[in-house]
Amino acid sequence: MRDMDSPLNSASATAQELATCLQLRGDGQKMLLEQAKDVKAAAVGDKVYFRGLVEFSNVCARDCLYCGIRKSNSAVERYVATDEEILSACQFALDNGYGSVVLQSGELTSRVFVDRVDSIVRRIRELSADSLGITLSCGVQEAAVYRRWRDSGAHRYLLRIEASRRSLYYRLHPNDADHAYGARLEALRTLRAEDYQVGTGVMIGLPFQTVEDLANDLLFFREMDVDMVGMGPYVEHTQTPLHEHHAELPSPEERLALSFNMIACLRILIPDINIAAATALQALDPIGREKAVSAGANVIMPNLTPCEYRKDYKLYENKPCVDEDASQCRNCLESRVQFTGNQIALGQRGDSLHYQRRKTMCRSE
Ligand code: SAH
Repeated sequence: MRDMDSPLNSASATAQELATCLQLRGDGQKMLLEQAKDVKAAAVGDKVYFRGLVEFSNVCARDCLYCGIRKSNSAVERYVATDEEILSACQFALDNGYGSVVLQSGELTSRVFVDRVDSIVRRIRELSADSLGITLSCGVQEAAVYRRWRDSGAHRYLLRIEASRRSLYYRLHPNDADHAYGARLEALRTLRAEDYQVGTGVMIGLPFQTVEDLANDLLFFREMDVDMVGMGPYVEHTQTPLHEHHAELPSPEERLALSFNMIACLRILIPDINIAAATALQALDPIGREKAVSAGANVIMPNLTPCEYRKDYKLYENKPCVDEDASQCRNCLESRVQFTGNQIALGQRGDSLHYQRRKTMCRSE
């Protein structure tokens, strides 16, 4: 739908039109954000859902060229949070009306790791009498592992494709079996087959990335029919190989503007999905996440990682809130979200409407 003042026609949007929209600034950008706001209000309302983020381990077997906790970064002190620490963070989420938690970690595929995640998921269900939503973000795993975690009670999964153009993906990852693009793509399909609400996403403003790439990322999300998207700006980390190319990066302002336009275009393109306001936005702008909510996002992930570990989960530099505890985080976020005119939906899981619709369509076929 598009009237004369609306920059984007969602039904027929081409890569070319999306690329044009992504480059809008000034009044044109304002109109795009307005259109996204209207689409959001009609499709998902003005509620923002909180997901308490628990970064439970930074031990990682992968060597992604952009990531601060990559295996080869020997400057990182590695940690694994205890069950008690993880469960007490989840208890905080429950007590404070966060409807869901996200368990995120470095990527491991060992039996010990798989068993541990499984047991934690079960314990979170017990602790919350099944009321907390449980999202996992633990990388590429075998289908049997995804099935097991799903059976135990996890029902959403975040796995960013990072860059949907294969050749760009391989400029960001080693070209080997451990980082295969095809495996990541297949994992997204498996997650869908295993009945998760599936989330993916990309980094925005990467070296070697063009606006056409970003436009195609948006079309990729639509083609994959995903239920959730989390995407945010790429932020430098000096102890990573990609930092060699930092001179070629768009400015932080440009990465932010692109991120807001990406969110707005995505909201118009797939109105009923959940879109997260990525934490990385806040690394470049103190109110970056709130601006993302104004541009069309409806999920925020307040950090519940035990304080002592936060400094060691530095995917990128300037990671916010490393010296704030969970309750400080909550207070500061609440007032900032209200400032955008949106309401925080306390105590609600906020499952993806897109997922609910596709399940209903499946059943009625
Ligand atoms: N290991 C898990 C999740 C942990 S990383 C997985 O791969 O799925 C979570 C996300 O942080 C990644 O998907 C990536 O998109 C983002 N990230 C990592 N390094 C980053 C950087 N330098 N700038 C911005 N985002 C980054």
